[in-house]
Amino acid sequence: MSTSAQPSKKVIVIGAGFAGLAAAASLAQRGYRVTVLEKNDGPGGRARVFKTQGFTFDMGPSWYWMPDVFEQFFARFGHTPADYYNLVRLDPSYRVVFGHNDYLDVPANMEALRRMFEQLEPGAGRRLDDFLSQAGYKYQVGMSKFVNKPGRSVLEFADPRLLVDAVRLDLLQNMHTHVRRFFRHPKLVELMEFPVLFLGATPQNTPALYSLMNYADLALGTWYPMGGMHEIVRGMVRVAEEQGVEFRYNQEVEQIEVQNGRATGVRTSSGLVAADVVVAGADYHHVEQHLLAPEHRHYSPKYWDTRTMAPSSLLFYVGLNKRLQNVRHHNLFFDEDFNHHAHEIYEAPRWPTKPLFYASVPSVTDPSVAPEGCENLFLLIPVAPGLGGDDEATRQRYYDIVMTRLEQHTGQSVRDAVVYCRSYAHRDFIDDYHAFKGNAYGLANTLRQTAILKPTLKSPKVSNLYFTGQLTVPGPGVPPSLISGQVVAGEVEKENALVS
Ligand SMILES: Cc1cc2nc3c(=O)[nH]c(=O)nc-3n(C[C@H](O)[C@H](O)[C@H](O)COP(=O)(O)OP(=O)(O)OC[C@H]3O[C@@H](n4cnc5c(N)ncnc54)[C@H](O)[C@@H]3O)c2cc1C
Repeated sequence: MSTSAQPSKKVIVIGAGFAGLAAAASLAQRGYRVTVLEKNDGPGGRARVFKTQGFTFDMGPSWYWMPDVFEQFFARFGHTPADYYNLVRLDPSYRVVFGHNDYLDVPANMEALRRMFEQLEPGAGRRLDDFLSQAGYKYQVGMSKFVNKPGRSVLEFADPRLLVDAVRLDLLQNMHTHVRRFFRHPKLVELMEFPVLFLGATPQNTPALYSLMNYADLALGTWYPMGGMHEIVRGMVRVAEEQGVEFRYNQEVEQIEVQNGRATGVRTSSGLVAADVVVAGADYHHVEQHLLAPEHRHYSPKYWDTRTMAPSSLLFYVGLNKRLQNVRHHNLFFDEDFNHHAHEIYEAPRWPTKPLFYASVPSVTDPSVAPEGCENLFLLIPVAPGLGGDDEATRQRYYDIVMTRLEQHTGQSVRDAVVYCRSYAHRDFIDDYHAFKGNAYGLANTLRQTAILKPTLKSPKVSNLYFTGQLTVPGPGVPPSLISGQVVAGEVEKENALVS
């Protein structure tokens, strides 16, 4: 808590997503008085949850990667994740379906993984070791030296050790080329390229630095918090409350008040809430272009229009009145052409002709998320952001496409067991989160949108306005959002000292 006799400074955090929660807890711990204003009726943002008919549906993230990031967050407050949720490692980590009766179960055990690589391509087992040793180095350097940088000045990277590292970190090569230097078998190539989809860009457009994601995937493993991903949110809210953070839900911020280049507070439908500092954890584009008067905006509509946004998603939350055969917790359906689908997301945006999709079945691991004898099924189709035509007929068409393939590949009827189904896509992301173009995962981590090339974490025009979350540093995903909140808290503290 603050040691000052002065009343401590008041921070308003807009949005109770992972980034807003991390920022709020970290700032309260440093002695600021923190209030979180959230437009929805509960915390979590894209990681909200809803319960119906005995099913518990995580609405967004389902992959728990980089457990070290969560450990470090809770450790700041003298806790461990185990104080809030029971984490289990999945084995197999996930299934990749390539066609009928043609799939790979990716083992958690490294020796078994090596054997799987070797069987598909002689020599690939040894090359996997080389690949992961490089990827492990990138993970270690990336996480300790890059990811925690606020990205406000190129000088942050002007450290001779980082320049030496830059070569080993493969900043100038892309993932597409990098993966093919090690592996030829198409299944191995797809397996190694899949994690960059989390970064919202194609392998061609993603720096090979991000093979660190393969290390996260294959070496650190895929985990699951029993009860669902929302348990992380609940744990973070408890940590924040322990630090004294106040949460106000159903409080949509409509405007940020600015006087003489400083934010004086925010306006909601309930009135003005004064602040010494504002941290915006809501989507950057929305805050900048809609909550600030034009003269206080740093970026133009053209700037935003030319950003590469990460994809949106067409989602189905499905409750089944039976258990499924032949499914794992995580199932990636790569039974159509990956490049063609990517082309329809990034280069020629349109509703995909033959989409890849992902099916999560958390009830395989966790009986609490579905009634007994039932299954909880979450289907995700990545789609281009900003598409028109998000209507019921379109959603139904894709529901039929993915259900047909799910039934074919798992060899059973599924549709006749559906007792609950809710769809979710662009217009929901916009209504619920003010997501620019209905994006699901924020701004893509492309070569040209990394570190200082991302929308800046501090407003250049409003001296006490900061941004956090998946559209600024370090990027999209739950672990990066957690890091983003902690980084912004550090910047606020540097520039808004509690004791004068
Ligand atoms: C379908 C889906 C699947 C995903 N899968 C994974 C995964 O498996 N693993 C992974 O690591 N990541 C995954 N992600 C990405 C991850 O969920 C996000 O990167 C992360 O949750 C973003 O957190 P955030 O705090 O930046 O933003 P958000 O979660 O969007 O939080 C922003 C908050 O601001 C609020 N807000 C907006 N406008 C206002 C306003 N005017 N006033 C007040 N409040 C406002 C919103 O309601 C929201 O609560 C997935 C995302 C989606 C959508």
